[in-house]
Amino acid sequence: MDIYLTNSLTRTKEKFIPLKDEEVGMYTCGPTVYNYATIGNFRTYTSADILFRVLKFNGYKVDYIMNLTDVGHLTGDNLGDADTGEDRMVKEAAKERKTAWEIAKEYTDAFLTDFHKLNLEDPVRFVKATDHIEDQINLVKRLEEKGFTYKTSDGIYFDTVTYEKNTGNKYGELSNLDQIKEGARVEVNPEKKNPRDFALWKFSPKDVKRDMEWDSPWGAGFPGWHIECSAMSMKYLGDTFDIHVGGEDLKSTHHPNEIAQSQGATGKKFVDYWIHGAFLTVDRGRMGKSLGNAYTISDIEKNGFSALELRYFYLSGKYNEPLNFTWDALKSSQNALTKLKSQIASFKSQTERTMLSEEKEEKINGFRNKFTEAVNDDLNTPQALAVIWEMLKSNIPSPDKYDLMMTFDEILGLNLSQVQDVQKVEIPENVKKLITEREDLRSEGKYDEADKIRDEILKLGFEVKDKPVA
Ligand code: AMP
Ligand code: ZN
Repeated sequence: MDIYLTNSLTRTKEKFIPLKDEEVGMYTCGPTVYNYATIGNFRTYTSADILFRVLKFNGYKVDYIMNLTDVGHLTGDNLGDADTGEDRMVKEAAKERKTAWEIAKEYTDAFLTDFHKLNLEDPVRFVKATDHIEDQINLVKRLEEKGFTYKTSDGIYFDTVTYEKNTGNKYGELSNLDQIKEGARVEVNPEKKNPRDFALWKFSPKDVKRDMEWDSPWGAGFPGWHIECSAMSMKYLGDTFDIHVGGEDLKSTHHPNEIAQSQGATGKKFVDYWIHGAFLTVDRGRMGKSLGNAYTISDIEKNGFSALELRYFYLSGKYNEPLNFTWDALKSSQNALTKLKSQIASFKSQTERTMLSEEKEEKINGFRNKFTEAVNDDLNTPQALAVIWEMLKSNIPSPDKYDLMMTFDEILGLNLSQVQDVQKVEIPENVKKLITEREDLRSEGKYDEADKIRDEILKLGFEVKDKPVA
């Protein structure tokens, strides 16, 4: 079955045709490891995970790379200029009284823990910027040889106008050009030849010994933020590869810069399909640390939810449409996942297979096709979830429902194979106690309070069903 993806390069939904018949090269811009990743960041990584799974489900071998930015991402991009401000890693190190290396290690570990809690599959390789300094220096050298760079007092810059003139390529084809405004609120760097030029290599400030700095042909310093993605993706996937993923904010500067650097160096097309995830908002607004709503996975857990319930919530939206987070919406996802798991648990105890009628067999194949069609149609996970609920309500036999759900979970990634047989589940003591409490309240006619306890029991992963009174 064909796969269709919305390609930001052409702004249309296109049939996916990989460069090689059975193999796909895919790269996702990963986190800057100076702090905990937010549920917004993880929306983007979950969309990339779904794409990774969909490609494999369709029989492709996927060489999937994700980077970890552990140097060179400056704070200025919050204000519209990625090359100014402080190094995020250095800033956090000063705040926590640690070295930049310690900060990188701490938040890389935290990122990977959360990544696994969300059941995101490991890429073939996680690659760190600091492990690839030489590759980055070599790429800057190639650009220098081709005359695309110049030196200022604070670094080596990429000359976007010379790039356009010499290659005939347009700079910034992913974004609306007028969105790429340098220095929206920061002072314009007077040494830059053109407003959209960007740093490839930054010099260490004079008289300051940075935790992270390297020698280079241009002097001690560190790489600019964009060069790592060009250097590492091309190193592992080749000069031209199939898919590049990131959040939609990267369309305006980071990705156009990656394209210019890569195509400037190789003279070839960099990437065929650019896939961008839309942002997660919170209570219909921007998510931000200063607003106190930049929730992390640990905030989700502290509020009585699991990372997989958050994953179900992500699946309820289409990756390239905005999704609004509220605690109520997460609660609905929690209820849905609990219901789904309890159905699966009940199927596990019904293993007896009956002969299938032709009609039922057709229905089973129909559900399988409808599900695959949904996920292959630009990763339409909300549609895929609608198919599973329709399938669960249908009259096909339970063991077949179970088998279908296990297949679907290769993409949904909700860990459904871990659900235990309903007859083998031991009810924990705290749940038993709550059940008794609830029964007492109900017998006293205190239904509101009893309902609250029912919710508490649900949070612990158990659903109480009252038998009708005879
Ligand atoms: P950063 O660590 O800031 O480089 O961001 C990591 C990834 O998360 C990038 O692909 C961003 O585009 C993405 N991202 C940042 N904020 C959000 C958000 N609110 N919703 C979805 N993705 C986001
Ligand atoms: Zn990148």
